[in-house]
Amino acid sequence: MSQVLTGHGCFQQYLHSKAIVEMPDCVHCPVNVESAEHTIFDCPFWKDSREDLTRAIGRAPRPNDVMDLLCSPMPSELPEDAQQRSRIRAQASKNHKMFSDMGEEIMGQESTNKTGWLEAPKYL
Ligand SMILES: [Zn+2]
Repeated sequence: MSQVLTGHGCFQQYLHSKAIVEMPDCVHCPVNVESAEHTIFDCPFWKDSREDLTRAIGRAPRPNDVMDLLCSPMPSELPEDAQQRSRIRAQASKNHKMFSDMGEEIMGQESTNKTGWLEAPKYL
């Protein structure tokens, strides 16, 4: 998940900035720059990995959802009703897990895809 948040990891944009790959282009779609944001939120190639979270929050996740997804709701934002409060907390924790799983899934597959064709000594 930290690779996602920092934009490092195996994104073409980062590898390109380190002169490991020639072009920053996405290898999965015709977009020019494969950034962390593009991979996690936009690239059509990873649509299936976003599906659970998309269903849970009722729309496709966006970069400005990240803080909401990673942080629990503040006590002041929660309703008075204890039942509602615990339902919202449970949903927030589910969404957090889904977002985290989505990131792990995408990053896991991305590294597997790319380790094969990157020159190992430069990459490691
Ligand atoms: Zn793409």
